[in-house]
Amino acid sequence: MIYLDANATEPVRPESAAAVAEALRTVGNPSSPHRAGRAARALLDRSRRVMCAHTGVSEENCVFTSGGTEANVLAVRGVGAGRRLLLGATEHDAVRQAPQHPVGAGDMIPVLANGVIDCGALEERLASSPAETLVCVMLANNETGVINPVSEISRLCRKAGAKLHVDAVQAAGRLPVDISALGADSIAVSGHKFGGPKGAGALLLAGSGAVVLPPLLAGGGQERGRRGGTPALPAIAGMAAAFEAALAAPRDLSALRDAIEAAALHSGAVVCGEGAPRLGNTSCLVLPWMKGEAQLIALDLDGFCVSAGAACSSGKVAASHVLQAMGFGDRAGNAIRVSLPWNVEADVAELFSAAYERMVARRRPA
Ligand code: PLP
Repeated sequence: MIYLDANATEPVRPESAAAVAEALRTVGNPSSPHRAGRAARALLDRSRRVMCAHTGVSEENCVFTSGGTEANVLAVRGVGAGRRLLLGATEHDAVRQAPQHPVGAGDMIPVLANGVIDCGALEERLASSPAETLVCVMLANNETGVINPVSEISRLCRKAGAKLHVDAVQAAGRLPVDISALGADSIAVSGHKFGGPKGAGALLLAGSGAVVLPPLLAGGGQERGRRGGTPALPAIAGMAAAFEAALAAPRDLSALRDAIEAAALHSGAVVCGEGAPRLGNTSCLVLPWMKGEAQLIALDLDGFCVSAGAACSSGKVAASHVLQAMGFGDRAGNAIRVSLPWNVEADVAELFSAAYERMVARRRPA
């Protein structure tokens, strides 16, 4: 099996697995004042320091969550409480499904044909918005890898007095996610997208004093009242260790990605977001005459794990709203995503391209 679905979840890094094992041996609850509790608290604090050091956030403004979905929902409902919401058209469902009141077409920020946010359209929408607006834009798209110009988006938000939330779930561990450099008010990250275990994420908030947020779960008031419930210490410690490991050994996978794309283009595929700034590990390939699901199955039978359509929604392969927003129309259901994991072997491009060519040779209409 060759695993090429890193954007769904990255393989766990050994440093992360070791940190999870250490945390599992830590008996106490971080809220308990006795020595066992204090040991657990020390581990939680250490993990928080790591997340904050690499995002430029103060320790009081790192809220641990169960993952990227919860971090995004907390931002939309918490930071966005009482504000108008403007959402990028290619946002993940974690953001699209988060608002508690309907978001109309006028509240969606369109993207250009290459998948990048249309900053002109954002500026127009901001001009007609009240100052109490929250703009939600992802740093890197999960399906295409397209990277948005977040600093420029931030400049437009500042000018209009709006707040900016950035879904950095696919970017963290692959691109710098310093909150000040991005100019964001909040960013969401998820441990399993950079080699940590599933089940931990964080909402990181700008500002020096602890930012007050209405919690989604009040519970016992953990995380300074912003996220109740005993923190999932093994997953959190594993996330922090994975984040450190990912940043310590960045791997540029763009040459492998480019080789895969060159072969796919030769077979008649279209590369989504070609020419736009993109993550080095992600290719979204459309074959105009073959459904993404059929491609996924053909490649799976040949030993390759890729994804098709909206990949996070397990079991269901729907036409991608991302590709629809980019103008792919009926072809939006004909895409596969190849996303290279951190530990991919160097011969992957050769092996995958051969499998892709075999599939095309068998299935191309006469
Ligand atoms: N945001 C983006 C861009 C994602 O790709 C994903 C998952 O694929 C999420 C949010 C949700 O993250 P999680 O799976 O940790 O809930």
